[in-house]
Amino acid sequence: KIFINNRITPNILHPNNNLPFHTQSPFTMNALAATNRNFRHAARLLSLDSKVETSLLIPYREIKVECTIPKDDGTLTSFVGFRVQHDNSRGPMKGGIRYHPEVEHGEVNALAQLMTWKTAVVNVPYGGAKGGIGCSPKELSTSELERLTRVFTQKIHDLIGVNTDIPAPDMGTNGQTMAWILDEYSKFHGYSPAIVTGKPLDLGGSLGREAATGRGVVYATEALLGEHGKSINGLTFAIQGFGNVGSWVARLIHERGGKIVAVSDVTGAVKNPNGIDIPALLEHKEKTGSLSSFDGGDIMDADELLVHECDVLIPCALGGVLNRENAGDVKAKFIIEAANHPTDPEADEILSKKGVIILPDIYANAGGVTVSYFEWVQNMQAFMWNEEKVNQELKKYMTKAFHSIKTMCRTHECNLRMGAFTLGVSRVARSTVLRGWEA
Ligand code: GLU
Repeated sequence: KIFINNRITPNILHPNNNLPFHTQSPFTMNALAATNRNFRHAARLLSLDSKVETSLLIPYREIKVECTIPKDDGTLTSFVGFRVQHDNSRGPMKGGIRYHPEVEHGEVNALAQLMTWKTAVVNVPYGGAKGGIGCSPKELSTSELERLTRVFTQKIHDLIGVNTDIPAPDMGTNGQTMAWILDEYSKFHGYSPAIVTGKPLDLGGSLGREAATGRGVVYATEALLGEHGKSINGLTFAIQGFGNVGSWVARLIHERGGKIVAVSDVTGAVKNPNGIDIPALLEHKEKTGSLSSFDGGDIMDADELLVHECDVLIPCALGGVLNRENAGDVKAKFIIEAANHPTDPEADEILSKKGVIILPDIYANAGGVTVSYFEWVQNMQAFMWNEEKVNQELKKYMTKAFHSIKTMCRTHECNLRMGAFTLGVSRVARSTVLRGWEA
């Protein structure tokens, strides 16, 4: 079966929005079809009862809201916002809110489902959710973003809660976005710092949360490489994406002696076979906002990064970047999925035939939600941890999850993706069955 991605973001059709068309390759299977396919494969490996299987696949609740705001010039504009709450059998639902032109119903659904398996893989007491608004945050002013975030919060405040559904940052959102949600939510429900995670420190955020996804990726990479008798020091890396996740991954790998030979983001790509000076690149990006004019390497084509010569490829940006069109040309021996669903199932098959080892997203990038859990725990106890404790606990959770995945791989004779899926799905299935079916 060939699934062609023919998604149309509803907002692109909106007369008030001048949004760019999505850039995803036509060779990429759509996100929901890909996620469902992985889930069904895991369900078969686990011989899951069909009633449980259906119940786990269907989201608990899907919210779609129209957010109309005045622009700075006085005109009205409207954006579509989503919150998909996928499953709550293990605890409150948890997941980020994404501001991006490609946000649409199917992808938010897929990402919400991935959050359910992700929280279960690292064994934090949460279910899964995801939200987003189809918009180009870079084209909106700070006050427009604030108005949009407040209107979105007004429309969903009754359906989220510290014990129901706890949002966090994702692509295009950050601590400031969380602060606005916290403030708007608190107008209706009283001061509630635990309603969001990834908040600024001054509002009850956690030390180490900003770096957590990247740090978790590095702990996960160390666990995987260690298994193969290798370490970060001495290997070459290519990193796609230099935002919050990619820049922390690059910094921490560089600190550990890994040689980063290529980096890309939306502004361009740079390569250097002798290793890029990451602190200098970070400084350059901070100053100029772009990678392209960096003189510590050669400019390269951003698409070429995925097939660049390296030992370890780390996609840290959008989903679906590895597909049947480019998977055959990948040179890396290891792929660490710091992004959500960067590899579509057809690419998965091609890469595994080539012997490439893939560390799946629902484990590799789970450091963010793990430290979100620590942040929520600190808020509930009104007690702040130091950064060393946050990082130590994160390492414990990531290492333990890796060993649990390996056990599933042995039991079900499967690859790491199916090891992680069977681990996550079996934990959620057990809670679902224990909680019972009687109305
Ligand atoms: N947006 C992040 C993710 O996709 C973090 C979610 C959270 O902390 O709740 O995992």
